[in-house]
Amino acid sequence: MGLLTNNDKPCPICGEATPRLLATTIANEMPICSDCSKKISMAETKLAQLSVAELKVHLSQREENARQLEEVFRPNYSVDITWTSLNIDEANELFTLPIHECGDIKNPPIFKYEELNGYELHDEHGLIEHCHRGEAAPQLISTDPTPAIYESERISSTISRHYKLHLFFSNPYWDKVEVEAGTVVTLKSQFVNEYTAFMERFNPVTFALAAMMGVDASTYVIDADTIAEEIKKFEELRDAGIITEEEFNEKKNQLLGN
Ligand SMILES: [Zn+2]
Repeated sequence: MGLLTNNDKPCPICGEATPRLLATTIANEMPICSDCSKKISMAETKLAQLSVAELKVHLSQREENARQLEEVFRPNYSVDITWTSLNIDEANELFTLPIHECGDIKNPPIFKYEELNGYELHDEHGLIEHCHRGEAAPQLISTDPTPAIYESERISSTISRHYKLHLFFSNPYWDKVEVEAGTVVTLKSQFVNEYTAFMERFNPVTFALAAMMGVDASTYVIDADTIAEEIKKFEELRDAGIITEEEFNEKKNQLLGN
């Protein structure tokens, strides 16, 4: 018996020795060998409840996934998200997102459009943007391009924000996948510019995800409350003589989609 391997608990899939330390485990804390565990693609919470029979089904589905990547999946465009990309096959309504969390990066799980239920974009302080299936449009939590400066950032001259995209699925192996969506590290005076640039870079992700869920993103950013707020801002500019009545009406009609 090796120090690092556990021959008393062979892998239930292939019979090889399993790691003594930090082995991937399924239900009843049964360890899996490292070769087999590399092929798995599912949320840890699901893996922890998986029986040997269910794992065998999963591994055969992973082989089928690899075959579909070769023979069926034909992405016609891709959208970058920091370290990865959404690879989208519009004709077959399929996409992949090759990230480490999803297991073997050469065999990323193929998701169906219909399995995507929603997404949320977060920074470390909270929710920034979200859209779920059935909603009228993606929603920004604030349309104000000036992001909040938090209490903890008051005394600092720099700001750093770390963005994460959460994707929600109806999929037997994934409820939720988290993706690094980018960072903004900048002088406070530059933050609005950098944040706006970040959101502009993120726009194609919004549009791609909304399209997969059948959500119309053409009115992206605009909801009833924010329209009212935006119109009020332009009213104030008009009242202060900064814009003309004509410019105000033009902006108002634009916001109301007229
Ligand atoms: Zn094994």
